[in-house]
Amino acid sequence: MTGRRSASASAVLRVVLDEGAIARSTIARRTGLSAAAVTGHVAELMQRGFLTELPEVAGAVGRPHVPVDLDTERFVVCGAHIAVDHLTVGLLDLRGKVLAQQEVPHHGAEPAEQVAQIAELLDDLLIGHAPDRTPLGLGVATGGWVDEASGTVVEHGFLDWRGVPLRDLLTEVTGLDVRVDGHSRALIHAERLLGQPRARSSVVQLFTGNVVDAAFATGDTVHHGPRSAAGAVAHLRVDDSEESCRCGRSGCLEATVSERTVARKAAEAGLVETADFPAILRLAATGNTRAVALFHERARIIGQAAALLFDVLNPEILIVLDQSVRDVEGCLSTIRDEVSQRSWTCQDAEKFLVASSFPGTELVTAGAAAMLNSLYEDPLFTRLPHAS
Ligand SMILES: [Zn+2]
Repeated sequence: MTGRRSASASAVLRVVLDEGAIARSTIARRTGLSAAAVTGHVAELMQRGFLTELPEVAGAVGRPHVPVDLDTERFVVCGAHIAVDHLTVGLLDLRGKVLAQQEVPHHGAEPAEQVAQIAELLDDLLIGHAPDRTPLGLGVATGGWVDEASGTVVEHGFLDWRGVPLRDLLTEVTGLDVRVDGHSRALIHAERLLGQPRARSSVVQLFTGNVVDAAFATGDTVHHGPRSAAGAVAHLRVDDSEESCRCGRSGCLEATVSERTVARKAAEAGLVETADFPAILRLAATGNTRAVALFHERARIIGQAAALLFDVLNPEILIVLDQSVRDVEGCLSTIRDEVSQRSWTCQDAEKFLVASSFPGTELVTAGAAAMLNSLYEDPLFTRLPHAS
């Protein structure tokens, strides 16, 4: 549990994240804390290296003041994402800006091998891009069923992982403070901290890659549910699909819209030579009519799921993370159209259904957000390497 002192420090740090360079008196107004309390928290956060003082500013009226801002030079937060085919590893500053990222295939290797690969990639990035900074910790996100509290991948069907203690494995190899979370929940943290302020009231994150899952948050709480199993929308039955699923049934959401399925269909239709998703995505992005049509058909099915999530959870916004939404013209509109036709509660899909705030850096941001969220939630108790 976070104490009151840490909760106030968290409020101070988050105001600075939102506003940038800011006077202590403004922080006091925004947080409702007393001037003396703000001065104390700022001093402590400076001592930890999270905040820094900027040159004095002459006030137009009143006294000159010394604004404070996040110190984005001292630390890096490491992020990693484990996808079905590849790993993404990167470094972010305290403002969530991606300083460097790298994506490599993992060839379906065993967990221990992937952990070693992540550690090696991180070492290279730290040496190459942040030789003078201290790594503050490592956040890791992946799809499927992840128990954040124990840092365990309970089940990842595509990777065929069951009960993998990912946090412990990575802590041992990297020596860093490691946090592990499901990628949709981690993306909600990222959106609330760095992306969509509207996500702070209530939000559904839908992730449609190879893995398809979702997460939901209201107020300050991201919903986990018993055993952290919330958000498993993979086997939701969708209309107009006979696609057979690994669960033994057919017409499931994940089996129908998974990137692997799209790649296979494109190859069957002779659009690409082999079932290669990036190739078919590039084809659609450059306007190939048949490839675009394939993605629009898929977008309508994503829209079915989005409409249902709107009606069940009635979020302030629903955020879709999908490569075709990012790269293929018209996919987002198609999803919105489907939601408008099907949802009983979403009156304005244009306004309430949006694309991810992190185009091109979604996966590494998801990973790092698992760590950044811990930091912003509890800046005084974050386990820190000793300041050098
Ligand atoms: Zn299924």
